[in-house]
Amino acid sequence: MTKQGKRTQLVHGGTKRSQWGELSEAIFLTQGFAYDSAEQAEARFIKTEPGEFIYARYGNPTVAMFEERIALLEGAEDAFATASGMAAVNGALMALLQAGDRVVAARALFGSCLYILETILPRFGVEVVFVDGSDLKAWDEALQGGAKAVFFESMANPTLELVDVAGVCKLAHAAGATVIVDNVFSTPVFSNAVDEGADIVVYSTTKHIDGQGRALGGVILGTRDMIRGTVEPFMKHTGGSMSPFTAWIMLKGLETIDLRVRAQAASAKAIAEALQGHEKLASVTYPGLPAHPQYELAQRQLSGSGGTMVSFDLKGGKAAAFKLSNALETILISNNLGDAKSIATHPATTTHQRLAPEQRESLGIGDGLIRLSVGIEDPEDLIADLRQALDAV
Ligand SMILES: *Cc1c(COP(=O)(O)O)cnc(C)c1O
Repeated sequence: MTKQGKRTQLVHGGTKRSQWGELSEAIFLTQGFAYDSAEQAEARFIKTEPGEFIYARYGNPTVAMFEERIALLEGAEDAFATASGMAAVNGALMALLQAGDRVVAARALFGSCLYILETILPRFGVEVVFVDGSDLKAWDEALQGGAKAVFFESMANPTLELVDVAGVCKLAHAAGATVIVDNVFSTPVFSNAVDEGADIVVYSTTKHIDGQGRALGGVILGTRDMIRGTVEPFMKHTGGSMSPFTAWIMLKGLETIDLRVRAQAASAKAIAEALQGHEKLASVTYPGLPAHPQYELAQRQLSGSGGTMVSFDLKGGKAAAFKLSNALETILISNNLGDAKSIATHPATTTHQRLAPEQRESLGIGDGLIRLSVGIEDPEDLIADLRQALDAV
C-alpha cells in the first residue's frame, strides 16, 4: 500500500480487530492473558513478540493500538504509553540516567518537570544545569561540559517561548547527549521534532490528544531500540503504564486530533489578532503572529502554524487579571489545556504559584499574565467573550 496521509492513519492506524470484527476499537479491559499451553506461557516469558501479551503493565492490545497510532502521527518508530504526562517525563529521564550523569535543561519548564530536574535528580547524584532555552549560545556553552541528556519544552508554558529543536539537537549530539523534548505545546499535529533530531519526544496525552478533559495519560516516543531497549524495561518494572481504558480514550482522541488542533490554532490566531493593541493589554503573545520575535522559527518548527495557546498581559496586574477571568462567560477558569473547551489560566496564582516572585519574573510570568487555551467553539463567540471581559476590567 502507498504511504497513507496523517488523517487516514489517525483513523485507521494501529487498529487490531478481534474475531468479532468490531468497527470501533475494543477496550481489552484485562490485566492478564490465558495461554493455550504451558509451553506457550514459557515461550512468551522468554520472548514476547509484537502482538503478544503477558501482563497489562508490560502491554495490552488496546494500549498497543494507541502506541502504534501515535507513533505514526509523530513519525517515530515506536512509543510507550504511560499513566500520565509526568510518568512519561520521569520515565524518559530515569530510564536514561544514572549517578554521575550531567543534564542540561531549559529553565522555563512545567512545574512538575522542574521538580524532577531541580529536586529529584540531584538526590540521585545527577547534576542538572539550567539555561535560557531560547539562547543557542547558552546551550552551546553549557554543553561544552558534556552531557548525558538534554531536556526542554519545545514551546514554554506559559510564555510561549520556543526552543530551536534542530539547533539544540545539533549542539547536543555534538556533545554526545540524548535529546528529550517535552512537546505538549507544539502538539503532535504540528511537530516535526523527530525529523529535527529529537531522540525522545514526550507528550502529556491529557492535553490535545484526549482533547476533551477526560483522562490523564502520557507517551514516550523514539526509535524502536530506544523505546524497547531503554524505556520499556524501566516503565514496565516501575508501574507507570497506561490503563487500557485510558488508551481507548486516547485512541478516540487521535481520530479527531488533526481536525480539532487545526481549528483551535486558526481560532487562536484570530483571537491574537483581535486582541493585539488592545488598550488594556501590555502585550499579546502568539507565535503565529509576525510580530512575535520567534515568528520565523515558529513557522518552520510548527508546520506554518502558531499553536493553540495565546498569552496576554493585562496592564492592571493581578487585580485586572482576576477581574477579566471572573467576567468571562464562555471561556472557563481552569488549568487544563488543549481541551475542546476554551480555558483561561492565571499562572502567577495557580500553575506557577510555587515559584518565588523573582523566579516568576525571570521567566516572564507577570501578575497580569493570562494563558488562554483556545478550544473549538465558534471563534467569534470567544472574541466577543474576551472583549466584554476586557470591558469589565
Ligand atoms: C501537563 C503537562 C505535563 C504533565 O502532564 P500530566 O498528564 O498532567 O502528568 C508535562 N509537561 C507539560 C508541558 C504539560 O503541559
